[in-house]
Amino acid sequence: MSEQNGYVVVFGCKRCGKCKDVCPVDAIYEENELSKIDQDKCTRCMKCIDVCPNKAIIYME
Ligand code: SF4
Ligand code: SF4
Repeated sequence: MSEQNGYVVVFGCKRCGKCKDVCPVDAIYEENELSKIDQDKCTRCMKCIDVCPNKAIIYME
């Protein structure tokens, strides 16, 4: 876990599936075909934010 206080959340997922491939700790899973992030696994590396073509993943303080 990093020292950042915020959370990486999915908001407005278009179901393209790209984020799951890029997560190094396998924190992204699907629920009703929408991507969700397991906050216990996520290290806030921000890779999924960069890869999402729909800007559907955001970092919230
Ligand atoms: S990359 Fe973005 S739009 Fe695609 S599945 Fe992930 S959150 Fe959804
Ligand atoms: S921020 Fe990094 S660790 Fe967290 S879900 Fe996205 S790719 Fe995975």
